[in-house]
Amino acid sequence: MPANAVKCEGRTSARIDSIMAIRPILIGNEIYRRLPHGPRHSLSVPRVSACMDLCRALGWLDDDEYRGSSPASLEQILTFHEPEYLDALQRIEVGETLTADEKVRFNIGVNGNPVFPEIFTRPATACGATLAATEIVETGGIVFSPAGGTHHGRPGRASGSCYLNDLAIGIGSLLTRGSQPILYLDIDAHHGDGVQDAFHDDDRVLTVSIHEAGRWPRTGEVEDCGGGFALNLPAPPGFNDSEMDAIMERVISPLAHSFAPEIILLQCGADGLRDDPMSKLDLSNNALWSVVSQVSEWSDRVIVFGGGGLIRGALPAPGPGYGRPSRVFQFRRDYRCRRKSFCGRSDGIDVRVAIHPNTGLQHSAMPPIWGWFGLKSKR
Ligand SMILES: [Zn+2]
Repeated sequence: MPANAVKCEGRTSARIDSIMAIRPILIGNEIYRRLPHGPRHSLSVPRVSACMDLCRALGWLDDDEYRGSSPASLEQILTFHEPEYLDALQRIEVGETLTADEKVRFNIGVNGNPVFPEIFTRPATACGATLAATEIVETGGIVFSPAGGTHHGRPGRASGSCYLNDLAIGIGSLLTRGSQPILYLDIDAHHGDGVQDAFHDDDRVLTVSIHEAGRWPRTGEVEDCGGGFALNLPAPPGFNDSEMDAIMERVISPLAHSFAPEIILLQCGADGLRDDPMSKLDLSNNALWSVVSQVSEWSDRVIVFGGGGLIRGALPAPGPGYGRPSRVFQFRRDYRCRRKSFCGRSDGIDVRVAIHPNTGLQHSAMPPIWGWFGLKSKR
């Protein structure tokens, strides 16, 4: 247990009500409409823009709840990443080709980290969103950055399709400004290795990762405590909603209340959902809603990140208590898709999204986090 853990038992329902009265903010950018990673990569999906469009179509996202983000500056990115690596990303973006040695050194163009046109600007924009989120929550608030959560990024190389580590940069910025302690909770199906290692031995940051046991990067075993300030809970295939609830109630919640974080960052990757083509976990949207709900009651300063997720056909569905959406949304973006509609069902509510027959939505795997925030803020 971190040495600076203190008791925090005074969170009253009145305080939680006041927290929920804060209007949440969603940070996005139009850059996410362009396909990343090339046409055949598993992450070549317009998931962030699809999430933004769908939330707007369902009436969940008002204009004053949305913020665009600028790319983080080189100086800000250099707080975590190495200059030679950033130089390589920028050279690729202007059309240069890396040497064979550089590809190996920076892990680019190999191992699932493809070269793509905005290989520096796009990740830098996600970093900018995370930094903007840290400034918003410093005075209290909830922010959702669906493009954030690139938890595998390393100082000097790409890893797991993560080129820059927006989380490490954001947490570092918070610490520099004196915000601590910070709880980082990661429920992506993959271990949050890059963030854990970035704050190894740092008693100001507690990193907690619930992930599928044995899945790439094959780290984060239960014995791994990150120098004393990390908790890893590898879950077996088939890990389901009730098991997530039990872990949250019996392990994570007591730990969070003991640590008493000033700010919480939640990497809420969607790849633990049942139909993800890679992971073997068995979570539903309800599990993600539940985690977001609980985390938002532990602190009045919360940032939630979209993280990973490869489900084709999943869509953000309304949170519990939402009325039946009356509108059918027709995507007009240049997404290629063979399907003409998506259907979802959650808590007895049916959702249908129609797809333009000639374009359509290729992929929308964003969890319905924003819907949950919208529910809390508007009722
Ligand atoms: Zn993942």
